[in-house]
Amino acid sequence: MSLLVVGSVALDSIYTPSDKRENILGGSAVFSAFAASFFCPVRLVGVVGEDWNPQHTAALGKQGINTEGLEVVKGGKTFRWTGKYFDNMNDRETLETQLNVLGDFKPKLPESYRRSEFIFLGNGAPSTGLEALDQLQGPGLVVADTMDLWINIAIDDLKELMRRIDGLVLNDSEAKMLTGELNTITAGKKILNYGPKFVVVKKGEHGALFMSEYEIYAVPAFPTESVIDPTGAGDSFAGAMVGYLASQGKLDTETIKKALVYGTLTASFCVEGFSLDRFQEISRKDIDARLEIFRNITQF
Ligand code: AMP
Repeated sequence: MSLLVVGSVALDSIYTPSDKRENILGGSAVFSAFAASFFCPVRLVGVVGEDWNPQHTAALGKQGINTEGLEVVKGGKTFRWTGKYFDNMNDRETLETQLNVLGDFKPKLPESYRRSEFIFLGNGAPSTGLEALDQLQGPGLVVADTMDLWINIAIDDLKELMRRIDGLVLNDSEAKMLTGELNTITAGKKILNYGPKFVVVKKGEHGALFMSEYEIYAVPAFPTESVIDPTGAGDSFAGAMVGYLASQGKLDTETIKKALVYGTLTASFCVEGFSLDRFQEISRKDIDARLEIFRNITQF
């Protein structure tokens, strides 16, 4: 089954302690869509401005991603995000966010997308997710990502969104911020009371935690030495996870655990290059090769 991905499409400028790139392809929807495309057909919904290079659309198309839902606003400017990583390559600060056309983005789902069953609402304004959901005819599984910005400035929309989704993905610090709790498990349980049936807490280099009313699964991060640019790792994790679920069309324990592992492994490739550089070099075979290594590392 295919996956519908809604989120930001960006031109990122990234500064790491040893290198920099300006105006490169990024955005939550782009990373998630690319990651998901290793597992299932993907439909993208996003917005860009006139400064958008059609070669980026071609790159998405080459990966088999349907870009019918990518709106180009005449006279508009694409969303831009600038981030700087600290020496540990884990922590970063946002230097600049220019919302531009993303600021008043009203997603318009093409007719052919409206019966999509698997939906991933990537990081973006919760109101965008709500508007996308209003245009869908009975989606089967809806998973959303969020971040501190929306917890701070759009908490009412986020609360409404949480009542309409099946799963929420967010960082450890954001789960604690959203709930006012200091413990991850307590925070996760509280989020389940807000509406989602499951929550996935991302813990960066320490892996991720899946929680539902009856289950809790933990997956470590794939140990990697080569971290060139961590941007998009969280989006890639979530995109691949939901992409794998869509490819299987079921939500049993075994499938959920494997989805968490595929999310982890796909994200481990994302950080090995700037933008989508590594994703454009690899195939599903490379991810599966890493699956075998991961099995050895984690089995006991
Ligand atoms: P991640 O590293 O997984 O947190 O994702 C980084 C990506 O999120 C970058 O490509 C940014 O363009 C995008 N991004 C950053 N801030 C926002 C925001 N407020 N809304 C939507 N996307 C964002």
